[in-house]
Amino acid sequence: MALAALQELERDAVMGTYARNPVEFVRGAGTRLWDDEGNEYLDFLCGISVSLLGHCHPAVVEAVRDQATRLIHVGNLFYTDPPMRLAARLSELSLGGKVFFANSGAEAIECALKLARKRRQGGDFVVLERGFHGRTYGALSATPQESKQAPFAPLVPGFVAVEPTAEAVRAAVHDGTAAVLLEPVQGEGGVNPATPAYFQGVRRLCDERGCLLIVDEVQTGLGRTGEWFGFQHLGIEPDVVTMAKALGNGVPIGACWARDDVAAAFVPGDHATTFGGQPLATAAARAVLEVMQREDVPARATAAGERLTKGLESISAIARVRGLGLLVAAELRDRPSREVVAAALDAGLVVNAVTETALRLAPSLLVTDDEIDEAVAILTMVLA
Ligand code: PLP
Repeated sequence: MALAALQELERDAVMGTYARNPVEFVRGAGTRLWDDEGNEYLDFLCGISVSLLGHCHPAVVEAVRDQATRLIHVGNLFYTDPPMRLAARLSELSLGGKVFFANSGAEAIECALKLARKRRQGGDFVVLERGFHGRTYGALSATPQESKQAPFAPLVPGFVAVEPTAEAVRAAVHDGTAAVLLEPVQGEGGVNPATPAYFQGVRRLCDERGCLLIVDEVQTGLGRTGEWFGFQHLGIEPDVVTMAKALGNGVPIGACWARDDVAAAFVPGDHATTFGGQPLATAAARAVLEVMQREDVPARATAAGERLTKGLESISAIARVRGLGLLVAAELRDRPSREVVAAALDAGLVVNAVTETALRLAPSLLVTDDEIDEAVAILTMVLA
């Protein structure tokens, strides 16, 4: 169906929660997308840090196809093979522990919050200004952004938002704190990497007060930063880790991982979801992790991130580049980021406006050097 017809259907039948770009994508392969008119695009956004292996990676397609022909869903009242094996693989990556499978990042956060409250009942949560954890009520309550929260008040009680400084967190955490919730790189907040000293200070503080350190790896996890998890850059071990986006390479899945003794707070009946851990999504995620391990994909993010950063720094209209691995923001001089995003899209490059003045780039970790150079050339041209 043509774009104009889709826009009409949207107007008639879809809630108005998204300001979509006026493009209809019909196909993807690797780092490329094609629209309904046959135009080709370089995708340097990946559904916001989702398709780490690129679009329609053959191993993921095959896993989905194979599982779909055998069993798509049966529910958590029974055993199936893919979620158990996926859990074992994730435990290997995350230092032992146990996982709960959900369907999205926000749901992984809900699980983490409930786990922390079950362990320290009535406890509160310390969260960071400019943090982002999702749109469900618990996750939204952990996301202290006025525009996102205010229309939906009252929120879940017990969330204390502080500036991301060691002193502010120290002042907020007390013996009744259930958990501190942090991102290794604040993604939606503008791609702001944390420092090791800061994370290590929070870790010590959580140990002193007996509260949990929950690290939200929904945007940073599974190789995006050059390590399997962002916290591995920061010299700490978390108690709980949330992940989603990249885990299914586009097939919806989330996971909340916790240390064994923390996970033990949950007993049957405490938490559940109909779709979480279903065979189709977990078969896809198993294929994702297999390719990532076999091809050491996280390591590729480091070299590719350096090349992309250097390329962006060579563009005079870009004032500064920040980020970690292949999660990168380019701070623009004197140009609204939305305008540049629209111009880049017209020129065949997909990026997004992470703030009013910065672009976010988060391509597939399998992006080639030539594709990075091509993206930099498009931005150079657009910004000229
Ligand atoms: N946590 C972080 C760090 C995120 O970046 C996001 C989404 O961007 C979420 C949680 C929410 O994930 P989802 O949109 O899958 O609910």
